Amino acid sequence: MNIYDVVIVGAGPVGLATALGLRQRGIENILVVDQTRAFRRVGQVVDLLPNGLKAVKYIDSNAYEAVKKIYFSLQKQPSKPSSVWVYKDLQGNNVHSTSLSFDYWFEKYGEGRVSVAWYDLQTALRQLLPENIVVINNRCIDIQEEDNCVRINCVSDATVNINPYAYWEEGNLEAPSQQFKTQSFRAKLVVAADGINSTVRKVIYKNISDSALGEPEYSGFAAVFCSEITEISNQLKTQIEEKYLNEGFISTIGNHAVTEQPRLMLFRRDDSIGYILHSALPLKVLENKSGTSLVEITSQEVEKVGFPLELKQLVNLSPAVKMQQRPYYIHHATNSTWSKGRTVLVGDAAHGMPPFMAQGANQGFEDALAITTQITNIAQNNNWDNIQAITQCFQTYEKYRRPFMEYIQHATLTRFPLSSEKLSQEYSQKVYSRNLDSTTGVML
Ligand SMILES: Cc1cc2nc3c(=O)[nH]c(=O)nc-3n(C[C@H](O)[C@H](O)[C@H](O)COP(=O)(O)OP(=O)(O)OC[C@H]3O[C@@H](n4cnc5c(N)ncnc54)[C@H](O)[C@@H]3O)c2cc1C
Repeated sequence: MNIYDVVIVGAGPVGLATALGLRQRGIENILVVDQTRAFRRVGQVVDLLPNGLKAVKYIDSNAYEAVKKIYFSLQKQPSKPSSVWVYKDLQGNNVHSTSLSFDYWFEKYGEGRVSVAWYDLQTALRQLLPENIVVINNRCIDIQEEDNCVRINCVSDATVNINPYAYWEEGNLEAPSQQFKTQSFRAKLVVAADGINSTVRKVIYKNISDSALGEPEYSGFAAVFCSEITEISNQLKTQIEEKYLNEGFISTIGNHAVTEQPRLMLFRRDDSIGYILHSALPLKVLENKSGTSLVEITSQEVEKVGFPLELKQLVNLSPAVKMQQRPYYIHHATNSTWSKGRTVLVGDAAHGMPPFMAQGANQGFEDALAITTQITNIAQNNNWDNIQAITQCFQTYEKYRRPFMEYIQHATLTRFPLSSEKLSQEYSQKVYSRNLDSTTGVML
């Protein structure tokens, strides 16, 4: 059996960016395996911020151009995305606002900001790779260390691979054309980019420490989502638009000084208004809830902290069929280990978290940049069979990336940067202004 230099498990944004980075650095004997049976439009919109875009640019300048292209083609459409995101208190006063213009961010932090759909991002990166490098229909179920390599065992079967952790909807999967099949690959190194519900992470933790750390943990926060409310009186609509959406298409309302308090993200879409409620809800409250139960939960949450009447009225108009819920899970960076032997975790598999600071994919791209630099180091010194050198490289990756992830997760769970303009600016300087340290491949 062919032994690849690197097998990447997961063809999400981070796995594909890693593959592109390795190829750019001359490591071409690689394979990306993904469980999906067909690439299809799933996932949400992802904001890529200056730190993530800088990482993509250093990984592969063609990838950077491809991602920017998606964004700028959307800007030309009549229903182009909002240009400002306003944070308001419960009285409708501005707490702070964020421009969403690429140029604004570019001038301030040396790189822009773009919003792209997860699927478009995946497609753009995938299309830069030779077709035979990315193989679908291969769900990794186990990895095993062998002499001088790792065996990656995959299956292709009829099981619907719903990922309960990452996305709003999965779409319908057709039954696979072939019969149940198992397939194994061998690689000198494995990069696990298989998302927050990572199988590889579970295997690693089963063998090294508390196996519970292999599983995603409930973050304590969840989203309740109403995609659109169309049956709304002109009077109420005008009131809401004037008070909360006057400067753009999106605003977040709440008492931003208190971490646990619910926030309501309002958005305008054509003639309708939708919202996402982010709240510290116990997991049990959401269990098996849908439709009108979700409207009731949202209604109770906005009542509890004294949201103004017009927002309570809006919530009560939510159509049951437009309601969805999403508990957010996390792999805490503190106390976690991201590698064992020849296998290393990146992206959500290492440190998945709620999306409150829009850093999941951005941090994943930073991982991809750092790990490709470390693997290049292994390749250049022909250390593929030197387990000590491999361990050293993976530890260097983790030594730099983990403390920064702890900071990002702290900001995400407390949302302190959103509580005032001053804290927002301090956080932004610290996260977005960093640049590549070429020796380590880390943004410093
Ligand atoms: C509502 C929401 C909003 C978000 N907004 C933002 C944002 O604005 N900005 C931002 O930076 N991030 C955001 N994120 C987070 C971002 O989507 C993730 O951090 C990012 O997608 C992680 O990329 P990944 O490649 O590590 O994992 P994923 O995107 O989860 O990709 C994992 C891939 O691995 C495959 N896979 C899984 N298991 C296996 C297996 N056993 N075998 C083979 N293949 C497997 C999957 O099919 C998938 O293709 C948001 C997330 C959510 C849920």
